[in-house]
This record gives sequence, structure tokens and C-alpha cells, in this order.
Amino acid sequence: MSDPLKNLQSEHLFKHFKAIADIPHGSYHTEKLSNAILAFAEEKHLNAERDDVGNVVITVPATPGHEDAAPVILQGHLDMVTVAKPGVIHDFDIDPITLVLKGDDLYADGTTLGADDGAGVAMALALLDEPDFVHPKLYLVFTTEEEVGMDGAYALDYQQFADAKFMINLDSEDEGTATVGCAGGTHMKSTLPIRRVKAKGLAAVLSVSGLAGGHSGDEIDQFGLNAVKVLADALCAIAKDVDFSIVDLKGGERDNAIPTSAEATLLIAPSERVTLDQTVNALQHTFRAIAGKRDQGMTLALDFPQADAVEASVLDPDSEARVLGALSAAPTGVVAMNRSVPGAVNTSLNLGVAATSDKALSLVFLIRSDHDAARDMLCGRVTRLIDLLGGTTGAPSSYPAWPARETSPLLDTMSAIWQAQTGKALTPMVIHGGLECALFAHALPDLDIVSIGPDNIDIHTANEHMSIPSFKRTYAFLKAAVEALA
Ligand SMILES: [Zn+2]
Repeated sequence: MSDPLKNLQSEHLFKHFKAIADIPHGSYHTEKLSNAILAFAEEKHLNAERDDVGNVVITVPATPGHEDAAPVILQGHLDMVTVAKPGVIHDFDIDPITLVLKGDDLYADGTTLGADDGAGVAMALALLDEPDFVHPKLYLVFTTEEEVGMDGAYALDYQQFADAKFMINLDSEDEGTATVGCAGGTHMKSTLPIRRVKAKGLAAVLSVSGLAGGHSGDEIDQFGLNAVKVLADALCAIAKDVDFSIVDLKGGERDNAIPTSAEATLLIAPSERVTLDQTVNALQHTFRAIAGKRDQGMTLALDFPQADAVEASVLDPDSEARVLGALSAAPTGVVAMNRSVPGAVNTSLNLGVAATSDKALSLVFLIRSDHDAARDMLCGRVTRLIDLLGGTTGAPSSYPAWPARETSPLLDTMSAIWQAQTGKALTPMVIHGGLECALFAHALPDLDIVSIGPDNIDIHTANEHMSIPSFKRTYAFLKAAVEALA
């Protein structure tokens, strides 16, 4: 296959981006990528350390003559979200990401692209290849497991770069904006025990697919449908017309992605097949009407994998009632809008994963809020619902909000550069998503932090794609910003 970046690779930026895409680096599997980064630092004769959880910190001495300038942290994360389109076979532990150029946009071939945060890591590394780069002392800080709870940033020793005054985080997805604050979040996992009995019947697989999904923070304000909730609502509606038992049920991939698909395997009496078919057909129209533009690709489908009745272990009636109760009553989506900033979400919840095993239904939630108290109250609401249904909720893990600073010399400097480079104003924003910046700000309260990144669309889905011109502009912006701090 020809290399879509062939003509771009002479540029340091694309050389690094391609090198990162070639090394599998899903969450918990970043060792090979950090090995490559450590080797690159060694080649550059730079001090680089990897800590016990895999975070990498490269220390870059200031350009001679600029030793007095305040040190700057450039920060991104090593791990990527690994999602493949249904039907696409991709082993994220072994297979490289195949880059596909469509017009000005870079896609992967049926998987997440990993520009979140390969773009950020590539920008930081590429600077070290620039012969004319003039800079203050730099710390390049690359963390692990950002996408699964920021484990790396939690374990990081912040004192090793406590002399830094500024930090540019490279994990944003919207060119021309500068993120200066973010919501805090809580990851929560609940378990509902189930009992099973043997039953005989015709197996029917009800599937929900084709939803737009998206990032549970950035895109929760689109009010899209959640495939797990659609499946639960469909099952509750079907139960009025058809007697069924649930064999198993699953939907969603991770807590920070809005589920795009879900399915349930049911057992029915063979005589109910036609009624079930008709009911699902009617429901498909109902859900399409509810879905609106964002989720117009939604499909509710029914499949009968075997012609004859089979024996299977199914949820007993009490378990089934509790499972459907939990799935249909659990809140999800936007819970409260910001009362002072029009259009901004204040508090939200994503039911990201639901799956039955032999003995339990497990549910994974990500709850976000600008207010830690509002977030904790919502966690309590979910916990009480699960309690009432006989389940348990594990100790939640939370990260703090990153409050916007009243004055930011870094933002002022960067705004002036962006204006000079593009003729446009840089838009500061506070996002409804978790950024590691919150942990840096928490550990080093005087650190002046701004987060930037190129236009990267549909992150955390197999349709993730990044604009190449935007990537180049953002890189030039970053280089000029760091030079201005020298
Ligand atoms: Zn990211």
C-alpha cells in the first residue's frame, strides 16, 4: 500500500506522527511507544526518564543564552482509544494504525486514528528536530492511561518540574481555541447480581447500531442517543407484546465514549417470531423519529441465528426486571446546563458500558461537572438506584476540575501570536471534559496552563480524522509560542 504521508514525511512533524501510528499504543500498552521516545531522546543526547507507571519526562536545556527564561512544560499523553468499526478486524496490540488521506484529512482504516493524542506527542517531539528552534528550558511530559482514568498523571512526580512557570498541553481538538479550564469527573462502576435458569426457545438477536456516539464530554451537548438506553427502551417496549427471556446483553466500549451500538440475545417462543418482527419494525420507525439528524443512521435490527429452538441459560424473571430497571432508569446525557454561560454544559453523565456476564450486569459510568459537589450528588443518585435494585457500586475515582485563571500571561502571549499568524482571535474556552491539566493545576497551583490542538473530529470513534492544514498551523503556532517564551 502506498504511503499517504510520503510527500509530507520530509517534514519532522509527519515523520513523528507516522512513527507513532506505526507503534501500537492503546491504553495499558504504551511501553513500545515510550521505548521509541526514550531512544529518540538518547539520540538527541537529552536526559529522559520513565517512571514506574510508564510516564516519560524529557528535559531539554534552554538554547544557550536563554537560560534565564522560565521553564516551560509541553505535555501530551501516550495512550490512545482503540475502537474499530464493527466488522473491521484489527489487533490493537500488534497491528499498526493504517493512515488514509482523504482530501485534506487524515483518517485511519476503520479504526480510531490516534491523533488523540499522537498529534500532541508528535508536535512536541518534532520541535526537537527543528534546527532553528530557540527555546527556554523545556520539560516534555508524556503520560500514560489518560484515556482510562489518567492513571499516569495521578502517579506523576510533579516536583521534578516544579520550576516550570508555563505549560502548554497538546491534547485539545479545536484549532483556534485555547482551553483554559475544564470540568472534573468521576469514573464509577456498578454491579448488579443476576440469577440464571435454563430455558428453551428460539434465539433472537436484537441490535442497535449506527448511532453517532462521540466523546462523552465534548459531544454530550449534542444530545445524541445512547445505544444502551435505546436497547433498554426497545426491550421494555417489546415486553408489552412479546414474552422473552434475556440470554445476554452488551453495549458500549468505554466510559468516555457515548455507546454507538448495543445488542441483546433473547429467547422467545417460536410462535412469537412474527409478532417480534412486527414490533421491532414499528419500533425502528419510532426511534428514527426520536433520533433526529445526529442519529439518523440508527438501525434497530433483528436476527434469528438458528432456525430451530435452542436451550440456553437465561436471566430469571426477577433478574430480568432488575436489569431492565437499571438500564432504563439510570440517568444519562446532560443533567444540568451552566446557568451563567449560555450553551455550556455544567453536569452530565455517560452510561458508557453495560454488559451481562454469567453472574452479573456491570455498568460503567463517567460523571462530569464544573462543580465537585454537583458531581458527587449525581454519583449518589446512581448509587442509590443500583442499591435499590440489589446491586453495588465500587469506590468511585474522581479527578478535580481545572478552574480558569483570572489572568494568564501565557494566554496573552499565545493570543498575540495566533492573531499575528492567522489574523484571527484565539478563543479561550472552558470544556466539559477531563484534561490532565486539572491534575497539573492541582499539584502546581502557580503553573499557567493553556491547552491547544489541531482540528481532530469524531475522536474516540472509528471515524476519527484530523485536518492536515490545521495540524501544520497548530504546530507553527506551538513553535512560535515556545520561542516567544525564550
Ligand atoms: Zn486526549
